Amino acid sequence: MDAKGTALMNATHSTSTKTYDVVIVGSGIVGLGAAYSAARRGLSVRVIEHSTRPTGASIRNFGHLCIGAQQGEARVLAEAGRETWLRLSQDAGFWLRESGTLIAARHQDELDLIEAAAADGGITLFSADEFADRTPVARKVLVGGARITGDLQTHPRTAAEKIAAHLEALGVEFSYRTAATSVGKGVVHTTRGSVHAGQVILAVNQDIDRLLPDIAAEAAVQRCVLDMLRVQIPLSRSLDAPLLTGWSLLRYGRFESLDEVHPVRARLHAARPDLAAIDLNQMYTQLPDGSVILGDTHHRDPAPLPFQAEDAQQVLIDEAHELFGTPALRVIERWQGMYASGIDEFLDREVVPGVRAIAATTGIGMTCGFGLAERAIDRAFAATESEPASTPGLRADSATQSIPAAQKLFTAQSSKEETA
Ligand SMILES: Cc1cc2nc3c(=O)[nH]c(=O)nc-3n(C[C@H](O)[C@H](O)[C@H](O)COP(=O)(O)OP(=O)(O)OC[C@H]3O[C@@H](n4cnc5c(N)ncnc54)[C@H](O)[C@@H]3O)c2cc1C
Repeated sequence: MDAKGTALMNATHSTSTKTYDVVIVGSGIVGLGAAYSAARRGLSVRVIEHSTRPTGASIRNFGHLCIGAQQGEARVLAEAGRETWLRLSQDAGFWLRESGTLIAARHQDELDLIEAAAADGGITLFSADEFADRTPVARKVLVGGARITGDLQTHPRTAAEKIAAHLEALGVEFSYRTAATSVGKGVVHTTRGSVHAGQVILAVNQDIDRLLPDIAAEAAVQRCVLDMLRVQIPLSRSLDAPLLTGWSLLRYGRFESLDEVHPVRARLHAARPDLAAIDLNQMYTQLPDGSVILGDTHHRDPAPLPFQAEDAQQVLIDEAHELFGTPALRVIERWQGMYASGIDEFLDREVVPGVRAIAATTGIGMTCGFGLAERAIDRAFAATESEPASTPGLRADSATQSIPAAQKLFTAQSSKEETA
């Protein structure tokens, strides 16, 4: 262990006897968002985190804050989080750009779909020549393109860590290397003792199936694993924004909800059943060092195995060659991402009075997580106005849910396709 790790262990070993206004379990982007929202209201906040630093979905993603591709509840939450991303990037000091989102259209039906979505505004359409002039996508594969304005891009490797450091400076207390084992009204039981709180927010992503298996089962939450690569690729020009393709349009609400999506899905699935089988979302983001994140595949399973099929990753590489018209590509890193996957896009539920579980249950938690977290804090403190105060010292009671000896298997399948 390095010096920082030792310091973290020492700093967080003992459990406080204080009662916090809010205890948050999980320090991914959703938990950090909840901590930020609570701290800005002047509340006392403690974050319980199993790991010593962010290692979950919040650092394994594209860093794409795809606000304008959402609709309905997701759009509302994404818009609500946009301002927070902009403010935090300044205050916490991490990389973020107001990039918009590029969409490469390689078939007329994709262009028709984008044009239909553009009727609501916030999307600029380009001819094939214009798009090729602005992006590294090969001119020969294009029939046109677009940019969703207003979207953002951040660096997923650094944002969460910088936000956590900023929150510490604001007075938020962190208990790292500490796992919540069960929760009840006003209390979180952890591997280092119990922590008392007026309100508890659980933001543990797919691990909700271990902490609260019945809640996860009710919401049909299971685990979605994704293959991701970071590559060096000699692009003809830099990619100044996240880049989506027709495969992406099948999954983001603003496009997926339109009738014009049907011919796109039918054609893509008929032409490339191999890509449909790995549930491809062909998309790219370029990081400040010039390397490109490319992905991704999706596989849902209550207990996914860690073995990543090389064939699926080769497909990602082949598709990148085809799109950018470049033969050379060097893989720098490969990783498996994981997130909670459910029937709805979000889990937001009061488990027992004063304990709220929240998660993005499709791959849009970077985009919508801050909005979801802010709403959870709003709801938690709106609820306390009619609730009795928390009871310090309360131990596990009938409302407490314990981790099961064996993880439950979920049979419910998601009816929607996953984003990201
Ligand atoms: C490959 C991939 C690509 C994606 N791309 C995008 C994208 O471009 N745009 C977008 O909007 N979204 C994207 N997503 C989705 C997004 O990354 C997630 O929705 C989001 O990061 C979830 O944040 P979180 O805080 O809920 O989870 P996490 O970041 O996974 O954090 C959960 C935390 O809870 C902790 N924890 C769990 N159980 C316990 C416990 N019992 N006690 C204490 N701590 C616990 C874990 O250690 C972890 O740190 C992507 C996801 C993946 C995997």
